[in-house]
Amino acid sequence: MSQSSLVIALTKGRILDEVLPLFERAGIVPSEDINSSRKLIFATNLENVKLMVIRGTDVPTYVQFGSADMGVVGKDLLMEYGGEEFYEPLDLKLAQCRLMTAAPVGVDLSSGAQTGSRLRIASKFVNITRRYFAEQGRQIELIKLNGALELAPSMGLADAIVDIVDSGKTLKANGLQPLDLIAEVSSRVIVNKASLKIKNSAIREILGKLKSAVDAG
Ligand code: ADP
Ligand code: MG
Repeated sequence: MSQSSLVIALTKGRILDEVLPLFERAGIVPSEDINSSRKLIFATNLENVKLMVIRGTDVPTYVQFGSADMGVVGKDLLMEYGGEEFYEPLDLKLAQCRLMTAAPVGVDLSSGAQTGSRLRIASKFVNITRRYFAEQGRQIELIKLNGALELAPSMGLADAIVDIVDSGKTLKANGLQPLDLIAEVSSRVIVNKASLKIKNSAIREILGKLKSAVDAG
């Protein structure tokens, strides 16, 4: 392994629980148990590799500015972050879910399209939502929420939401149904562009290990 030191930013929470076993199969193992530590940065069995564990929304930022050379983050957050600031060389195929519109059962989002009446859409993905409805040619009123989106329609705050859908159980429990698919989501590896040039062999080695682990299932 080349001696360039690499920092990899991982998303804490649900993705981490799926990503750490994959990293282990790839031969990248933190030197202590990440979940039972208050540290935010960890040495690994590989002398030149460190792992940072941060909020998913912060992973693209660290990688864009090169404070982390690589990152693992959900496609939803990459789409929301936007821009072309990093490479996205590998789909880890973990934490798979879908980004969808959802509305109360019986509500048809296309009604009102002709009259131009504005839909009220609640989401934490404001950039994705704005882009999606603009592509549909729909004027919307966007309401930013940070959680419990499923409550917004029944509380009269919004006509519909844009959110992550996995089994659809949470939607159903709140009288909602998924409507349109905006994007298939899974966790992706991103790489800082300058790092890839400067630390090419070290990064390629890590990507190779991860790809083998993904391909092995
Ligand atoms: P937070 O609490 O910061 O919203 P989550 O753990 O809920 O973090 O989500 C982190 C990432 O996990 C999301 O960006 C998305 O890529 C993925 N994710 C979220 N919900 C699901 C789900 N139900 N199934 C699979 N992956 C999901
Ligand atoms: Mg969440």
